[in-house]
Amino acid sequence: MTGGRRIEIRGTVQGVGFRPWVYRVARAVGLGGRVRNQPEGVSIEAFGEEEKLDAFLAALARDLPPAARVHSVDWVAIPAEGTAEFVILPSADAGERRLSIPADLATCPACAAEIADPANRRFGYAFTNCTECGPRFTIATGVPYDRAATTMAWFTMCPACAAEYRDPLDRRFHAQPNACPDCGPHLGLVDRDGRRVRFGPPLAAAADLLQAGEIVAVKGLGGFHLACDASSSDAVERLRLRKRREAKPLAVMVARLEDARDLGRLTREEEALLTSPVRPIVLCERRPGAAIAPEVAPDTSLLGLFLPYTPLHHLLLAAARRPLVMTSGNRSDEPIARSEEEALARLGGIASAFVVHDREIANRCDDSVVRVIDGAPVVLRRSRGYVPYPIRLARPVARPVLACGAHFKNTFCLARGDSAWLGQHIGDLETPEAYDFLAEAIARMEALLDLEPEVVAHDLHPDYLSTRYAEARPEPVKIAVQHHHAHIASAMAEHGLAGPVLGLAYDGTGFGPDGAAWGGELLVADLAGYRRLATFRPLPLAGGEAAIRQVWRVALAALDDAFSGDPPLDRLPLFRSAPAREIRLVRELIARGVGAPPAHGVGRWFDAAGAFLLDRPHAHYEGQVAMALDAAAGGAAGEPYGFAIEADREPWQIDLRAAIRAAALDRIAGRPVAAIAARFHGTLIAASAEVVRRAAELTGRLPVVLSGGAFQNSLLASGIRRALEPDLAVHVHREVPPGDGGIALGQAVVAAEVTERRASCA
Ligand code: ZN
Ligand code: ZN
Ligand code: FE
Repeated sequence: MTGGRRIEIRGTVQGVGFRPWVYRVARAVGLGGRVRNQPEGVSIEAFGEEEKLDAFLAALARDLPPAARVHSVDWVAIPAEGTAEFVILPSADAGERRLSIPADLATCPACAAEIADPANRRFGYAFTNCTECGPRFTIATGVPYDRAATTMAWFTMCPACAAEYRDPLDRRFHAQPNACPDCGPHLGLVDRDGRRVRFGPPLAAAADLLQAGEIVAVKGLGGFHLACDASSSDAVERLRLRKRREAKPLAVMVARLEDARDLGRLTREEEALLTSPVRPIVLCERRPGAAIAPEVAPDTSLLGLFLPYTPLHHLLLAAARRPLVMTSGNRSDEPIARSEEEALARLGGIASAFVVHDREIANRCDDSVVRVIDGAPVVLRRSRGYVPYPIRLARPVARPVLACGAHFKNTFCLARGDSAWLGQHIGDLETPEAYDFLAEAIARMEALLDLEPEVVAHDLHPDYLSTRYAEARPEPVKIAVQHHHAHIASAMAEHGLAGPVLGLAYDGTGFGPDGAAWGGELLVADLAGYRRLATFRPLPLAGGEAAIRQVWRVALAALDDAFSGDPPLDRLPLFRSAPAREIRLVRELIARGVGAPPAHGVGRWFDAAGAFLLDRPHAHYEGQVAMALDAAAGGAAGEPYGFAIEADREPWQIDLRAAIRAAALDRIAGRPVAAIAARFHGTLIAASAEVVRRAAELTGRLPVVLSGGAFQNSLLASGIRRALEPDLAVHVHREVPPGDGGIALGQAVVAAEVTERRASCA
């Protein structure tokens, strides 16, 4: 019996070697037919014996190319055709292929083997790639995704490369960035003044400099990295000083998985992430005694590790023979440098040499960051390797939306139909350069997706640069979305929840409609709106934002509040050396209620407890002391201290004064700080679970979602989840960041819902 099948495969299956793979499978099984790209995937028509057709379908469901993302496979029977040949048809026209650009893919094992093989023509070649690996999004200048629309356009393939490109059985069939030493891009090494350095091969020379403790800027896939020897305290300190990055952890790249195992205690999930085609930075537990300078990641037991993801990185790491700090090539708060000129201008004072090359970066893209929580990955920074894969929306948007994101860790989002594209990590919108990057990245993504927004969403905060950007857009429909509502909505969108849900949004700060800084919120929400059921008892921020760095001020406020104005300051080491005058000043600010705005952030309570438990008066960046407190707890929550939920008002207030009192007294009594930190975490978990349970009595047992930057803390996230399950269904972020990097998705779905309801009312 012969028959036929038409098979439609949806997903990101273009630019990842999918059609050649289908071709090989069909040939192996012995079927005739054809495969072609379609707007949202590929379409196959296959003909032959029924058993072979079944075997073909089974094979399609198995062993996919590693980078393919299949959303659905549907098939119908069609009349048999007498063809024994299987062919790859040319792609449909430009308009239809607009969704086809994949994310960048880490070097595949076959390509890695070639560059290490002296007999191969690509031995030592830093730009080797194939259909299963290589640059994609970062080199895309337009659509369709074809060599002509990439920054490889001006390199003409040599006959050998062109033959590979044309051969359906070759690994490089239609590999758009295909190149070799004869025809592709080349490396160079330049000094601070942009002069070519002439001593030996560039990567060997760079490795020598790194071994000597120098800082080298390296042009990679999505921008420049700053590299230095991660085992040298001197080198790391110099990098911190010059980059003006005092304390934030730095990521470390190692040559092989075995090297990563030497530095981190890796779980199976973490190893899978490290070696995946995304190749993100993976936050893992540092091995005690790991051969890494302590300056790499102070204040935390975690270490951000990643493996080489381009041939250039493979070659550099092999030559340097040591773990390298590889951090974004920027000065504080500026976007990652992209071109050679930009790098020389901005990084000249930091790096002593620059590894450069002549393949232009079209789209800058920082490394992604992932952490495994409760045995599954949570993407903390979604950028290279993920962008521009869309997030599927359970509820399609009626009109195309642009969401401009928040202020810190900014990303934007474009949505059309049932797809939402989160853009790459833009960073903190603190500089004009960052603002320009946002505008440029949005314009580029609109062009790549051929998407013209009709609705523009932004944060409620009037002064955010992202809000200003939104206001300057020409589209008439602008929707302001409250920060924590957006957090909750982003988790709802990720999990296909229409609401209502009970949303716990925990972070440092977000603008509330009352003008106050919200930050520890329980909302009952759907996509159109929310009701604020509970919040944290506010702490006054003496001196406003300054208190976020001067955490001793928050500690003082919390202790004054907890001990009704008479805390035992003289018995807490944090305050022993604090000048009485400064303490008085802060108290005056708070008493007068001027210059001391109330803040509801969960982060502030962690800051307060961390400051007096760890004797840390200052934080170099928001969250540093909270992170140190998390590290101090040593991975386990303890018996909760007391807390109260004041339900005689709306929103209810979660009151941690009893816990602050108990923690301070335990500290004074000389109890181990680890135990106190663990109990403080336990208190937060117990109080959160309690307030959610009480809310569920009121609203019914709605699904619970956890969102906000505080849920990067795995102790808190998994503690609250375990406390509520299985009574309530708890959803946490997986592919969308819980922090402000995920907020644009929430803004987009809220804006879509709000405009649609308005339209149906009108
Ligand atoms: Zn490859
Ligand atoms: Zn070539
Ligand atoms: Fe936030």
